[in-house]
Amino acid sequence: MSQVPAQEHPAREDDEQLALAVGSELRKKKRAASQAAKKDISKGAAPLKASPAPSASVSRQSQAFRQAWRKTAGELSEEEQRTAVLQALEVFRQLPPASSYAQHRIRVLEKALALLDKAGSERSSGPAAFLAAALPLCRRLHSSALAAASAAAPGAASTAAHAAPEEVPVVIAGGGPTGLTTALLLAKYGVRSVVLEKRQTLTDHPQAHFINMRCMEVFRSLGDPDIASQVVAHMPPLEQWRRFVYCTGMTGEVLGMVDHFKGQTSPYQPAISPEPVAHLAQHRLLPLLVDAALKEPAIDLRMGHSLRSFSQSPTGISAVVDVASGGAGSSGGIYRLSGQYLAAADGARGGLRQQLGVGMGGPGAIQHLINIHFVSPELGRVLRAGGREGMLYFVFNSQAIAVVVAHNISEGEFVAQVPYFPPLQSGADFTPQRCAEIVRQVAKRSDLELEVRTVRPWTMAGRVAHTYQQGRAFLVGDAAHAFPPSGAFGMNTGVCDAHNLAWKLAAVLQGRAGPGLLDTYTAERKPVGTANCMLSVANFNEALRVPQIMGLDYKAANLLSDVLAAPVLSWLPPDARKTVLETTMNVGKAAASPIRRLRRSELAEVFEHGETLRLQFPKEDLGYVYSQGAMCHGPGDAAAVAEYQRPKKRDAPYTPTTLVGARLPHAPIRVRQAGRLLAEVGSQAVASTVDLPAAAGTGLVLLLSESSQQGGWEAAAAAAEAATGVPVLPVIVAQSAAAISSGGNAAGERTTVVQDAEGAWLRLRAIPQEGALLVRPDGHIAWRHGGQGDLANELQRAVHTVMCK
Ligand SMILES: Cc1cc2nc3c(=O)[nH]c(=O)nc-3n(C[C@H](O)[C@H](O)[C@H](O)COP(=O)(O)OP(=O)(O)OC[C@H]3O[C@@H](n4cnc5c(N)ncnc54)[C@H](O)[C@@H]3O)c2cc1C
Repeated sequence: MSQVPAQEHPAREDDEQLALAVGSELRKKKRAASQAAKKDISKGAAPLKASPAPSASVSRQSQAFRQAWRKTAGELSEEEQRTAVLQALEVFRQLPPASSYAQHRIRVLEKALALLDKAGSERSSGPAAFLAAALPLCRRLHSSALAAASAAAPGAASTAAHAAPEEVPVVIAGGGPTGLTTALLLAKYGVRSVVLEKRQTLTDHPQAHFINMRCMEVFRSLGDPDIASQVVAHMPPLEQWRRFVYCTGMTGEVLGMVDHFKGQTSPYQPAISPEPVAHLAQHRLLPLLVDAALKEPAIDLRMGHSLRSFSQSPTGISAVVDVASGGAGSSGGIYRLSGQYLAAADGARGGLRQQLGVGMGGPGAIQHLINIHFVSPELGRVLRAGGREGMLYFVFNSQAIAVVVAHNISEGEFVAQVPYFPPLQSGADFTPQRCAEIVRQVAKRSDLELEVRTVRPWTMAGRVAHTYQQGRAFLVGDAAHAFPPSGAFGMNTGVCDAHNLAWKLAAVLQGRAGPGLLDTYTAERKPVGTANCMLSVANFNEALRVPQIMGLDYKAANLLSDVLAAPVLSWLPPDARKTVLETTMNVGKAAASPIRRLRRSELAEVFEHGETLRLQFPKEDLGYVYSQGAMCHGPGDAAAVAEYQRPKKRDAPYTPTTLVGARLPHAPIRVRQAGRLLAEVGSQAVASTVDLPAAAGTGLVLLLSESSQQGGWEAAAAAAEAATGVPVLPVIVAQSAAAISSGGNAAGERTTVVQDAEGAWLRLRAIPQEGALLVRPDGHIAWRHGGQGDLANELQRAVHTVMCK
């Protein structure tokens, strides 16, 4: 079996293209600027120097290969490149010849070798150009090989648990969206991590698909090209997913269609975020994150490695890792890893939360569902031809009830979610044949051509962990919370957990913050998890309005199922109870099917008043405010936050705010002076205020306006930095280019100056012109000040408080 089939083909094309690109670059070498090459090399070399010490737990060959490769990428001497490529070839040649993955890598490496030989003979005419061309390929090969070597590390198996444990600052258990986001953010802050993923291959089962603006803002700051723009490039056009369709069958009668982008021609809302909401299936998003992680030398992603158990002491954590047998000829085994912190991103069923002894609260299991992942280009064509493209189809007919997610209508890729009732029914009842039958009933097309890809039972639940932290271990994503998918908060919340945790871990590891900063993770994120859990459950109930009007009540069905499964009826053979259940369900569906006039008018009213399930939640996605945690509240701040958070109407709009604890609102900006903050990022990437903290590493941004206090604030920032060791980076948001250069207010060289491109910041800032906002690396406002008093002292005190020093 190949190691990463789900990403094998795209990666193959990439590598081929890369190899070709190197060839063409080599031909162009005389024209390439040696300066550019030097820049590339220095960019590549710096993070690689921070790469982990060679693992005691990996095979000798892969260890040698990693060492050699790092050296290669860092120094790029021709001889070392050759040696590294040869060593990589040796690693892959040890994999079973049947592995198409290995064979592909061998071909790419052989190509690289040929290119190196060719370049060697031409070296005298332009080594810099060659290096510039070869570096991306080297990086790619390094990454691919790392992943393969990780999967192959079970040669490691024999080194086993008694060997000296490998050291890494952060161990991340789980390579799902939240684990990978945590790793990418840590890497951005310069912190190494090992990501353990128990699967040997990427899942091809779609789950999440709707990505909200805040999650996209986090993705905007990661990867090169950034993940957000890759999501936009890969997602279907809005016309295919702007509606929810309520119908008696996907090709049957339409009961109602709800457009969730009324008045919008694109998924962007430029007044509130630089990023759109997006629709991309999780199994298509994951390869983008994996690819970014593989390119990142500070991330060691190990597929087929599962965290079995761990322990912790006041100074660190120690983990026992299981290596799966089977893939890449591995015979399996175990090894030990030690580190400073553990991020448990192992999903709802990973088990680390239980190991930590952390319980959960909330409504618990709500509904049992079977996910049928199927592909039918024919269905996609029919839906498009009929002008009924939608993201979700709520289907009610006499034979089937389902919610269908259209992941990609052009390609005909869907998931049908069908309720089932354990223990009388089980996943085994849903054979591929039965599932194909259900899909045809849902589509109302008895001869529909389709392929059932995967069938997965799952339980929709609402639960939140009592705490997100146990000593040096932190729960992230579904490990910390489970929501019904109604409202699409699961992954989106998990990514924001990662965003909150990563800078705190990095700041503590770098000595910029006290360990108390980590205790603010639960205080900040758990209220968000709880609010999103409650909202998702409320959304689920909202989503039931249509079926209830049609006489279908899942609560009654669950009750019936419970009654039939109860011990009092145990004298009835299981098959008989199951028959009663299924017959009663069918009677219910049949009764719902003739849609009487009364029901129609009730339905019309519900659709008209928008009382069905919503899709966009900007008030909740962008508008949550941390009321306690890593912040410094001034007088009146807490009351203002409480007022802002007072429950509002269900569909009240998001109101941007600069209250302490809130996300820094988006305002379009134009960079006028890079200053210290943007000198390295480059002004190109910065177009919104939300980009400013994202560029600051684990430093804090001090947001100012051009004013008489400007110089005072710049001096205060320098003094606070000197006293606390935390970079405090002043940024002036000026109203006009003229104002920036005028009079005695010229900004210091190290200050970043941006222009309020559309005047939005002036409306949003809600502090006096002389005032300042202190913004954390995750874009949340930590402190606000009106600009009067002892600026230096007060800023220093605020930095101390925020960083828990
Ligand atoms: C039908 C459906 C639709 C959904 N739609 C949306 C949506 O539109 N938007 C949204 O935001 N969310 C949605 N969600 C929720 C979303 O899928 C999850 O919230 C998301 O997958 C959570 O990501 P995660 O990384 O925390 O966990 P997972 O995705 O579960 O990843 C955890 C990973 O950890 C690995 N693992 C487990 N144990 C170990 C171990 N011991 N060692 C190493 N690795 C381990 C697993 O193999 C897995 O890869 C939906 C969910 C469902 C079921």
